[in-house]
Amino acid sequence: MPLCHYAVVPLHHYAHVPFHIFFVFLSKIKNMRIDIITVLPELLESPLNHSIVKRAKEKGLVEINIINLRDYTTDKYKSVDDYAFGGGAGMVMMIEPVFKAIKQLKSERVYDEIIYTSPDGEKFNQKMANQLSMKNNILILAGHYKGVDQRIRDYLITKEISIGDYVLSGGELPAAAITDAIVRLIPGAISDEQSALSDSFQDDLLAPPVFTRPADFRGWKVPDILLSGHAAEIEKWRHEQSEDRTRKLRPDLGVKQ
Ligand code: SAH
Repeated sequence: MPLCHYAVVPLHHYAHVPFHIFFVFLSKIKNMRIDIITVLPELLESPLNHSIVKRAKEKGLVEINIINLRDYTTDKYKSVDDYAFGGGAGMVMMIEPVFKAIKQLKSERVYDEIIYTSPDGEKFNQKMANQLSMKNNILILAGHYKGVDQRIRDYLITKEISIGDYVLSGGELPAAAITDAIVRLIPGAISDEQSALSDSFQDDLLAPPVFTRPADFRGWKVPDILLSGHAAEIEKWRHEQSEDRTRKLRPDLGVKQ
């Protein structure tokens, strides 16, 4: 692989990583690409141009491209929707512009996954985000109207993802949520690698509570242990808090009782 595929990440960043693991790690430090096809590019601009995602793009860890489906329309009205066969309320995303867009993009690179956002898809979670963060090229089709013509799903989509059991107006917010969750897991996206690893759901545990100054706010006190300076004790306390919270709030995650 040419060197330019590796992102520019300061090497001291990985100083704590044992040498033999470093080379395995290095293969993952590369420019990931996420392409999103949408009829509403404006909806995706702000969420993907701030904070960690913005910095990851600036560091060259990820390239995110928003593709306007209307650029692939075939009529002068730039139509992307049409009436549903069989009647009934609501429009359907047309097959032809979507097919043309995906065909063009596929001719330029190989996609590891072509994802369609859909309420009836597999429920998105941290495990899936971890898996997707290790891919090279991902294409996401954000649905709209009553959804896309089923034949696109049958013939071109490789994975269907729901972000929860509720219905949104379009797939843009799900695509932004999925992209954000993936990007913050790319090595180097978060300055302190530990920070992503200690987030909720990594290891099937919820995160422990966090506090900052002042240590005493109107008599609301920070737990003494956090002010003690005993790193090992603090770590133990945090782990216990994680387990307690998970048992109480998310027994389904299966922490031992
Ligand atoms: N008629 C569809 C919903 C259409 S909502 C149904 O009942 O399943 C319009 C589009 O928004 C969908 O095509 C999908 O791309 C997106 N969308 C809505 N809710 C979503 C969710 N919970 N997860 C992922 N995508 C969703």
